[in-house]
Amino acid sequence: MDEQYMRFALQLAQSARGQTSPNPLVGAVVVKHGEIVGFGAHLKAGEPHAEVHALRMAGEKAEGATVYVTLEPCSHYGKTPPCADLLIEKKVKRVVVTTTDPNPLVAGKGIEKLKRAGIDITVGVLKEEADALNEMFFHYISTKTPYVTLKYAMSLDGKIATKTGESKWITSEDARRDVHRERRMHDAIVVGVGTILADDPSLTVRFGYEGKQPIRIVLDTHLRTPLHANVITDQKAPTWIVVGQHVTEEQMKPYEHAGVHIIRMNENKIDIPSLLHELGKRNVMSIFVEGGAHVHGSFLSSRSVQQVIAYIAPMLIGGNEAPSAIGGEGFGRMMDALRLQVKHVERIGPDIKIVAKG
Ligand code: NDP
Ligand code: ZN
Repeated sequence: MDEQYMRFALQLAQSARGQTSPNPLVGAVVVKHGEIVGFGAHLKAGEPHAEVHALRMAGEKAEGATVYVTLEPCSHYGKTPPCADLLIEKKVKRVVVTTTDPNPLVAGKGIEKLKRAGIDITVGVLKEEADALNEMFFHYISTKTPYVTLKYAMSLDGKIATKTGESKWITSEDARRDVHRERRMHDAIVVGVGTILADDPSLTVRFGYEGKQPIRIVLDTHLRTPLHANVITDQKAPTWIVVGQHVTEEQMKPYEHAGVHIIRMNENKIDIPSLLHELGKRNVMSIFVEGGAHVHGSFLSSRSVQQVIAYIAPMLIGGNEAPSAIGGEGFGRMMDALRLQVKHVERIGPDIKIVAKG
């Protein structure tokens, strides 16, 4: 029965995917005498935690009940008071959790507090599912850098554009719609200035998945992004441009006037690990890297890749000059190649989607 209730709690947590960052996805279910008397999910950073919603619904029935939570209850004062205190105050009998919270502010302390108050604790129910659910959060909290997804649409021969730079469209509309769903799961979309110059994309979430719009981040060492580019003029989502240290205040001014946030790095080239560190400091928990080949190459060479989402179209482009999905130097030896595991394969219309993780 523990697993059944926890599965429901995980579903509740999952329902808020894409909207809780930089907080984790959390669900809670309150059960008394074999009946569900309360449930809830954490919906947005700054809003009540899952336990608060669930206990509120349970009201007086919380006394003597069992509470299923998909993550260790918090024990610190953040934007809201600690849930461990609330569980004690409501006199619950037992608390079941999937896993402890890797956040050093919580890590085991919530469980300790509950135990000291005489509450029965069970840890480890559906832990694997819970780890998968919050993998972006766990990565972010333990490394202080965003979880990186590389995404590309390519032909069956691995090309992302023709030799003349045409890339519209390789995959079907159905596959492109799926991209919008995936974009929404990330805090930011990253592209190189090459992609801005070639395609002038808007990089917004559309196709009915609107709601949260991720930040658009352009890697542009010399600030070559045109002021009339869609990412600057459309005002549909925040835009950040990352530049090298030689870019002057004077050059930055018109962009800042247009509402763009500029991150100036301390080096002349944009180093991916330092970039990830800067983004982590700005609470960016996950990024969706949409190309082009050069930018993908830089993420690969610094081995900063947690996940790849590839959309593959049954089409052949050919040509030595046509870019492949990942450019840059590439690895010289097979033993250095980044090896991933396929986690998901799906047919979307005429195309195939593959999700692989490190
Ligand atoms: P990119 O978008 O990869 O941009 C490359 C430029 O980004 C570099 O020239 C560099 O310019 C800048 N940059 C800044 N920092 C870095 C860094 N750390 N690593 C790499 N680049 C950095 O452009 P590409 O020319 O490789 O790709 C564009 C092509 O790819 C287009 O034809 C486009 O249509 C296609 N494309 C296809 C996609 C698909 O999924 N099918 C997706 C995206 C693009 P600077 O030195 O000035 O900063
Ligand atoms: Zn809490």
